[in-house]
Amino acid sequence: MPELPDVIAYVEALRPRVVGQPLVRASIISPFLLRTFEPPIEELESSRVERVSRIGKRIVLSLERDLHAVVHLMIAGRFRWLPPDARLPGKIAQAAFDFPTGRLVLTEAAQKKRASLHLCRGQAALHEFEPGGLDLLNADHSAFHAALGRENHTLKRTLTDPTLIDGVGNAYSDEILHAARLSPVKLSQSLTPEESERLLAAARRTLDHWIARLRADFAGRFPGPGEITAFRPDFAVHGKYGKPCPVCGSPVQRIRFSENETNYCATCQAGGRVLADRSLSRLLREDWPRTIDSLESGSNQQKRTRRR
Ligand SMILES: [Zn+2]
Repeated sequence: MPELPDVIAYVEALRPRVVGQPLVRASIISPFLLRTFEPPIEELESSRVERVSRIGKRIVLSLERDLHAVVHLMIAGRFRWLPPDARLPGKIAQAAFDFPTGRLVLTEAAQKKRASLHLCRGQAALHEFEPGGLDLLNADHSAFHAALGRENHTLKRTLTDPTLIDGVGNAYSDEILHAARLSPVKLSQSLTPEESERLLAAARRTLDHWIARLRADFAGRFPGPGEITAFRPDFAVHGKYGKPCPVCGSPVQRIRFSENETNYCATCQAGGRVLADRSLSRLLREDWPRTIDSLESGSNQQKRTRRR
């Protein structure tokens, strides 16, 4: 799933290509992608793009007349930037946005289509897409400590729940927890102030490092579809099951849960104990919404309603 560093890479690649440009044509290829009826997609056509921004993991194209297109790429959604009138890539193209400067194509190479496009008008409607979680790049320690303590979940769940912390998913939560030397199954309310300070510092360091790294990698060009990935060769633990931890050399462990697995180093993060897979899988599973879709969307709505 594209997470904060990936989403920032897309936002920064889109800005010089589409801001100030009129959207000549918007074509929805997969009817499942567009989740709203009002305003209709045609409303966007011939409007100029004024701004490209992000709300957590969502990418927002804001056009004239306070119109906004909000994209959540979920797991397999990607953008491609093609020359004007280029042919659309086969079965995976879900939508195409044509500008005089080029063709922005949204693809999703997966059986299960999860990526979404919402259209809305006005700032109040746009505000509705904020899941309510903390922005790690701008949060201070007291806000972070409060966010951690608001509910009692495993740190893995807390970091990836957009209603608590916004912008982090399965990959960067593993990297952040490894950098913080904290176990993914430690409970969020059990963190001492020293530990939560260490976690916030590790989160900032990890995200800043990867934002800068992707910025350098993609300088002057649009990220290729295979380059926005949850599996980077230089990650410390995520996707590295069985490989040596770059800090201590112990083999990276995994706990499987839901549709995911979390990777960690037993030596660096769990006091040398290999966390037995079975019971911890259960613990993580029980601490998890049934599907990734409900974590990214449904649960937010439910929680928001509950909080009101
Ligand atoms: Zn280690």
